Amino acid sequence: MLRFLTKELVSVCLLSLIIITGYSQQNEKPYIVLLSLDGFRHDFPEKYPTPNLDSIAKDGVRAKALLPCFPTKTFPNHYSIVTGLYPDHHGIVANKFYDPASGKVFALGSKEKFNPVFYGGEPIWNVAEAQGIKTAAYFWPGSDVPVHGKYPSIWKKYDKQTTLAQRLDSVVYWLQLPPENRPHFIALYLEQPDMDEHEFGPWSEEAKQQVLLADSLVGVLRCAINALPIADQVNLIIVSDHGLVETSNTRSISLEEYIPARWLANPETMGSPVVFLKAKPEYYDSIQSVIVTIPHTKGYVSKYMPRRFHFGKNPRCLDFTVVAESGWSIITNPPEKIKKGNHGYDNENKDMWAIFYATGPAFKKGYVQKTFLNISIYPLIAQILGISIPPADGKLKLVRRMLNTHSE
Ligand code: AMP
Ligand code: ZN
Ligand code: ZN
Repeated sequence: MLRFLTKELVSVCLLSLIIITGYSQQNEKPYIVLLSLDGFRHDFPEKYPTPNLDSIAKDGVRAKALLPCFPTKTFPNHYSIVTGLYPDHHGIVANKFYDPASGKVFALGSKEKFNPVFYGGEPIWNVAEAQGIKTAAYFWPGSDVPVHGKYPSIWKKYDKQTTLAQRLDSVVYWLQLPPENRPHFIALYLEQPDMDEHEFGPWSEEAKQQVLLADSLVGVLRCAINALPIADQVNLIIVSDHGLVETSNTRSISLEEYIPARWLANPETMGSPVVFLKAKPEYYDSIQSVIVTIPHTKGYVSKYMPRRFHFGKNPRCLDFTVVAESGWSIITNPPEKIKKGNHGYDNENKDMWAIFYATGPAFKKGYVQKTFLNISIYPLIAQILGISIPPADGKLKLVRRMLNTHSE
């Protein structure tokens, strides 16, 4: 599988070398390709050979780690990266949640995923387009939804079956469009190694192969970009949304044993390892006293969660938030199969930490950035593209040292 896909990807790279034609009229503005490798743990490059990421670190920037937002799930974090907001502020508070205002349930596989009412903030593609900069996205969470009625200039409806090679081909093709149609910001999403980490565990041979594949993909993408006439204008940023930790069906807590469904106004408590509970008024006090006693979990009144979470004031977090201890699962209603790996835990947990690598004309060479929260990627991208952004939680001052324009 790895060998096959890698060959396929190398051919994409060679093909791009062959079909490149020079453009007489070059647009001098910078380009950004933002690639997300779902679930790529911050320490994978220490444990496995990742020559292509290492080479980006040498020629550009590497962060010691990228801190995800809480909860460390895919949709909240990808959407935080492109809005610069904590999930509490952009509203995608989990991959699946109940919205008391509309009475609707947001879920990735449902039609509600496409309902813009759930999506707050201003995705970077909307901000850039409003300032005359074309953008594109291949499956970035939120990009196939008309947020405030708008999409990137080029976008695709999410389809898991689309091969890596197809996605790469398109990105390289978009960078060769005539200047007036060529996107200056491209967001690309890949499901792995997350999928195999869930299925087989983050330290399984299967997950390792996906890590190696993801790294070779990075190499192919870089090689294809380097062969473009606009190569010296392109910045490549590689991120992940969170890490993963081993889970087991020997480490699970049945919520129902502590909080009977009849106490709840939302008997559906989906989303291990983080669940949101809405109390029937007459059981509010009972739940409040019980949630701090459930073993291998931490229970909070959502709106009084410790400040470091920046989470819980959004009404979608309901009355109470219960978070499992690392590696533990909460048996939810409806019950989900406990697989061999999961994420969603406290973002202070290092197993949840993600990666950030970047190279291109905007970045210093060989710079190691201290660990930072992913919401600062939004002002960083805006700075590189030269666009202004609405107020955000992420702060440029925390990351601008990695930019070429910043001198100590
Ligand atoms: P999770 O591991 O549960 O946090 O979510 C990862 C899953 O999210 C992936 O396996 C994808 O199938 C799914 N996913 C990623 N992007 C999208 C998208 N744009 N639309 C719907 N589902 C997505
Ligand atoms: Zn993810
Ligand atoms: Zn996942």
